[in-house]
Amino acid sequence: MEQSNLQYDTVIVGCGAAGLFAALHLPETQRVLLLSKESVEECNSMLAQGGICVLLDENDYDAYFEDTMRAGHYENRKESVDIMLRSSRDIINQLVDYGVRFHREPDGSLSYTKEGAHSRPRICFHEDITGNEITSTLLRQVRSRSNIQLMEYTTMTDILEENGHCTGIIAKTKDGDVLQIHTDNTILATGGIGGLYEHSTNYRCMTGDALDIAKRHGIRLDHLDYVQIHPTVLYSEKPGRRFLISESTRGEGAILLNAKGERFVDELLPRDVVSQAIFEQMKKEGSKYVRLSFENIPEAEIRQHFPNILATCLEAGYDITKEPIPVVPAQHYFMGGIYVDSDSKTTMDHLYAVGETSCNGVHGKNRLASNSLLESMVFAQRAAHHIEQQVEGR
Ligand SMILES: Cc1cc2nc3c(=O)[nH]c(=O)nc-3n(C[C@H](O)[C@H](O)[C@H](O)COP(=O)(O)OP(=O)(O)OC[C@H]3O[C@@H](n4cnc5c(N)ncnc54)[C@H](O)[C@@H]3O)c2cc1C
Repeated sequence: MEQSNLQYDTVIVGCGAAGLFAALHLPETQRVLLLSKESVEECNSMLAQGGICVLLDENDYDAYFEDTMRAGHYENRKESVDIMLRSSRDIINQLVDYGVRFHREPDGSLSYTKEGAHSRPRICFHEDITGNEITSTLLRQVRSRSNIQLMEYTTMTDILEENGHCTGIIAKTKDGDVLQIHTDNTILATGGIGGLYEHSTNYRCMTGDALDIAKRHGIRLDHLDYVQIHPTVLYSEKPGRRFLISESTRGEGAILLNAKGERFVDELLPRDVVSQAIFEQMKKEGSKYVRLSFENIPEAEIRQHFPNILATCLEAGYDITKEPIPVVPAQHYFMGGIYVDSDSKTTMDHLYAVGETSCNGVHGKNRLASNSLLESMVFAQRAAHHIEQQVEGR
């Protein structure tokens, strides 16, 4: 086992949408190191299916704000929600400039889809693999920047602290070598906690490592009990990650059925409400799942909008164009996390947290569908800008 000391201006722990977007917004004069625990492809951002929200126009502001607040049980930080909504169009424009291919109408304008608890369609998407499209594009951009270095299969095990400031991190490579990475600023972008659950849609390596480290250093955490259960994953008895059946399938007309083939809930209610109704139905019937039927969605629409879901269900032995599929709720998203302000600063100087591991209060008690990729990037950009201002002010 070897020990080495490395020096960078900023280290970003995590290569999902949040970490990558932060890296792209740091000044190119900075030497930046990006770490990922497994391969760069193994992050939840790659798995996002439904899409990414955008404020349609000024007339949509009140409705989008209210949808986000209502889904979050009005426990959201209003300032954060406002920042996210007002920044959303710029984020979509930046993604398009980077090369992200969102679905478009015949006249070339962006298409918008709808998911549960949204009062109108305002979600940009690329088939049912929006996260892969966005994250791969960001990765290509990051790889083209000579100031950013990517290090895979390297796990942060602690932060370095001097006089109450963060001065970097300690990480372990897959060969067991220990790296002391000294920096001016550190950004934690380590994603969610699904790997701690038996049934989750997350990659298994998302085990809330940054939260554990933050707790050991007395850094403020918030709402650790705010965990989102997604109503519909494909039922399976195999171990490992569960396959998500995106909420946009219900947005486009898919319906939930009980064992008698009857509907038992309004499918477009917020996620926590729909999950609760499914659990109650399963308990009543003594069943392990309920069914999701695509009978109201034309086959051509299924093939065009949900090719990944169609193919994965076929592999599992279900043809969604012909039959309902067994679905069950599973752990999906973490609304709580490391407490940050609206510039993504934690309660420790020179330490920032962005994306799912952070809690800036946007989601309140329950996340509105397709708000998280957007939130990740809006507040990652703000962390990067805050670091830039700090450097300029020296
Ligand atoms: C199946 C699925 C579908 C989803 N669909 C949508 C959707 O349609 N729209 C939407 O907005 N959101 C969706 N989400 C949620 C969204 O994808 C995530 O909330 C968001 O991508 C989180 O991004 P992130 O950058 O914070 O984390 P991630 O993308 O998960 O990245 C975390 C990174 O941290 C690294 N890491 C973790 N621990 C360590 C450590 N100790 N040391 C080093 N590196 C570490 C990992 O290797 C990874 O690179 C979905 C999530 C899932 C699971």
